Amino acid sequence: MSKTQTFVIVGAGLAGAKAAEALRKEGFDGRILLIGSEDASPYNRPPLSKGYLRGERARATILVSQEEFYSENDIELLLSTRVTALSADPAQLETDSGRILKYDRLLLATGARPRTLKVAGGNLAGIHYLRTVADADRLRERIQSATRLAVVGAGWIGSEVAASARQMGIDVVLLHPRATPLEKVLGPEVGGVFRTLHAEHGVELRPHTRIESFVGNSTVEGVRTTTGEVIPADLVLAGIGVEPRTELAERAGLRVGDGIVVDERLRTGDPAIFAAGDVASAWHPIYNRRLRVEHWANAIYQGATAARNMLGHDEVYDRVPNFFSDQYDLSIEYLGHSGESDGMAFRGDPASRTFLAFWLQDGRVVAGMNCGFRRVHDPIEALIRSRRRVSTEELADPEIPLEQIAEGRRHDQASTALR
Ligand code: FAD
Repeated sequence: MSKTQTFVIVGAGLAGAKAAEALRKEGFDGRILLIGSEDASPYNRPPLSKGYLRGERARATILVSQEEFYSENDIELLLSTRVTALSADPAQLETDSGRILKYDRLLLATGARPRTLKVAGGNLAGIHYLRTVADADRLRERIQSATRLAVVGAGWIGSEVAASARQMGIDVVLLHPRATPLEKVLGPEVGGVFRTLHAEHGVELRPHTRIESFVGNSTVEGVRTTTGEVIPADLVLAGIGVEPRTELAERAGLRVGDGIVVDERLRTGDPAIFAAGDVASAWHPIYNRRLRVEHWANAIYQGATAARNMLGHDEVYDRVPNFFSDQYDLSIEYLGHSGESDGMAFRGDPASRTFLAFWLQDGRVVAGMNCGFRRVHDPIEALIRSRRRVSTEELADPEIPLEQIAEGRRHDQASTALR
């Protein structure tokens, strides 16, 4: 690669920042432009629903790298700059100030935006979404002065904000369409652990509840459900999922499905354009299908892989997705993708909150969750990678080390290391 080349990264989030860092680490000495529409230097989003929201962490502690990192590494960080147009031929893009930038390689790391509730009253003041540090600042301020928060949606963000808001001392009602929080990802049994957890901390749970509209004059005063009941709330946080920001890719004629379609090397159909992070729908060799993963670790590692492949490497991205969540004093780690799983196994009792859960498809472990065990990340990952047919009995048996199951070794050599 020569000094005359320009690599442009659109999206100064985690994936974009990690890609810029990897380009320099690999010795790229050309021009790197990292363009982001937010006014903040790249930062980590997970604390926005946890310690940062509760005011326990300062902004400087959530940065991906210290601000000077970019100038010290000759990375041109253009903040408060939105890319408004993209062309594959000629290879150039346009920013909202009308600046035209040519590129030799381009990474689209534009992430995702929150889905919004399109119901009557949806524009009332006091209805919040959470994606950016500015959103978190606004929400924290309102939590400090409001009396009752209605959280709409009990996925990860809704559940974490409900926990943080309770820890900040405000009343919380959690409205969600299924029987338990997190049921869509974890199923009703593991979801039940979170239902009990939130109830113990004083959250009012409203399962099987759908929103009809919001009531209030200029500011929200309540949520009307489809049964006609009005649930009072002077603050609302809607966490109903995200949609990938694919508009630039669409405009450039790239293939888009649920995200920007890329192969296992994170390449789009155009050899100069790559995608990584929340926006990328990438072919996953272990799952034999495309996955769009909305996880912190995925943004880190895909960003770096995309950067190396922009430099001409031939790196396949096949990391097992993994995710963590902290709610009150409960921390979990989830690995894999439960997708169309058709069975489950537990090691330990979910009600004890020290357990492993496994999701199986066709007898193979496709996902696992750890609650309260130590040093099980690698063995769970090995189980998923092995694609070996296993029995629910051996998964449930604490006498049989997970490594042994992953390797298909006989059970009589069991050690108790993982009990
Ligand atoms: P993003 O972080 O969305 O960054 C994309 C950037 O691109 C944004 O700054 C956006 O403004 C910018 N952009 C978009 N379009 C343009 C354009 N046209 N021009 C210029 N810039 C543009 N994951 C976990 O694993 N564990 C957690 O506990 C966890 N908690 C989370 C809590 C919250 C509140 C949120 C919001 C996310 C959480 N996540 C968590 C998910 C994780 O943060 C994301 O997976 C990760 O941030 C994705 O990074 P990204 O770089 O792909 O996208």
